Amino acid sequence: MKKDYKELKEKIEQLKKEKDILIIAHNYQRPEIQDVADFLGDSLELAKKAANLEKEKVLFCGVTFMGESTKIVAPEKTVLLPNKNAGCAMADMITAEDVRRLREEYPDYTFVAYVNTSAEVKAEVDVCCTSANALKIVENIDNDKIYFLPDKNLGEWVKRESKKDIKLWPGFCYVHNRITINDLSEGKKLHPDALAMVHPESPIDVLQKADAVLSTGQMIKFVNDSKKEEFLVGTEAGMIYRLSTIFPDKKFYEMGREFVCKGMKRITLEDVYNALLNEQYEITVDKDVRTRAKKALDRMLEF
Ligand code: 13P
Ligand code: SF4
Repeated sequence: MKKDYKELKEKIEQLKKEKDILIIAHNYQRPEIQDVADFLGDSLELAKKAANLEKEKVLFCGVTFMGESTKIVAPEKTVLLPNKNAGCAMADMITAEDVRRLREEYPDYTFVAYVNTSAEVKAEVDVCCTSANALKIVENIDNDKIYFLPDKNLGEWVKRESKKDIKLWPGFCYVHNRITINDLSEGKKLHPDALAMVHPESPIDVLQKADAVLSTGQMIKFVNDSKKEEFLVGTEAGMIYRLSTIFPDKKFYEMGREFVCKGMKRITLEDVYNALLNEQYEITVDKDVRTRAKKALDRMLEF
């Protein structure tokens, strides 16, 4: 039976006001968390929001690197994470030490890090990007030699669209990397009128066959601009709730099967309540790391 969160949601709304805390959340968060968020978005929209926060305290519902990025661009704010174990498996696939070694090996290359990386990794690169602006960032760099990390699928997608010499780190997202051509054709068979939207962390053969390759924020814009009524959603399951809430008259389907990010789903509504009540868990980032990582994030935001 679906849990009724009415009482807990009311308590959260009350605590939010009393403590003057803003709740921002990623589009993959659980439905009940999306319902209590003041602002929802993709990584780029959340980073932009973080740079212009209207309140002194913010509760960030998303994986750790996203909360860290908020603290990096807004160091004077108190940034809370409801659950310390909400990690992104892709961000754990490369370390700052790996990047330092690569920089020695490829001294002529400009290093671009997908935001799905730790603060320490961001501190070692030249510029960051998200799935919404990766190609734009790479094309605007005044160097034809690019080292792109850590997502090989997003990197491969950018590589196909760009004439630059792009080297890739072999990282991936275990959620999106599982999406197959078979999932896409199963989805199309079940819903022949639906347009297939796929996230660029998916394998390249799936991206080539999709109707549109989009960040989660871009999916919302795509649906809004489309005359179509039905869509296959080739990304994490939370996005189906997000789209259905904004467009109640349109239909959204899983692409073949359900894809769930354990890190994103680790945060529960109870965690959100406890985080507001006890003002926990505060994110801290070492000053030197923060200053260097901020340069890479600021450069991205300048574009
Ligand atoms: P978006 O920036 O498109 O929301 O993607 C973030 C992410 O972690 C995808 O797995
Ligand atoms: Fe990381 Fe993949 Fe989860 Fe996104 S869906 S937060 S890339 S593990």
